[in-house]
Amino acid sequence: MKIIDLFLKKSGFFLFFPYIENMAVLKIRTIPDPVLYKKSAPVTEFDKKLRDLVRDLFDTMYAESGVGLAAVQVGILTAVIVIDLEKMGHQKGVFVNPELVEASTEMVIQEEGCLSVPGLSANLERPRRVKVRFQDVFGNEKFLEGENIMARALVHEMDHLKGEVFIDKLTPEVRHTVEEDIERIKRGLTPRNSSEPEYRKKVRRRNPNPGRSTPQQVRP
Ligand SMILES: [Zn+2]
Repeated sequence: MKIIDLFLKKSGFFLFFPYIENMAVLKIRTIPDPVLYKKSAPVTEFDKKLRDLVRDLFDTMYAESGVGLAAVQVGILTAVIVIDLEKMGHQKGVFVNPELVEASTEMVIQEEGCLSVPGLSANLERPRRVKVRFQDVFGNEKFLEGENIMARALVHEMDHLKGEVFIDKLTPEVRHTVEEDIERIKRGLTPRNSSEPEYRKKVRRRNPNPGRSTPQQVRP
């Protein structure tokens, strides 16, 4: 292996600079697309196809000013998620076959959104801290502990791999307040009280590459 290849592999450089070649922004599936309610299969081949998928997931997530994305959200039922919360002081990473190992009993209620439910945010209770076991793109087992929004993102994305969307986990009281907007989104309409989580606004404000994205648009 050439030194430069080794550097790229060790540093993960090529994973996080996806614009170098074959960039692809994929179409995000939105509710009520049936694929969102299906379980994702574990990854068994840690090959170029997987690395291409990871690159496309990052491209797609950044184009939509998201902070996390699961492969199922672009219609691929394979257990891969990407998260980038570096701008908010947390981690960025690729999580292949992630599993929840520990979750704190301490819970936090905070707003949450989802690129598959465009224009909606709602309060949802999640553990303050979680520990996950996962594999990297080469198949190596890893562990990561996240707290606050990182824990929220990890659990949210792992729910996607189980075929679960966050709006179906809201308390009946919260669900009631956003039910009309959920129905509008399902019909391809903009919600009446269109809102998005604060964290996405923060990511967008600091997005160094606004020309690539269309974040101001709410998908029809
Ligand atoms: Zn989501």
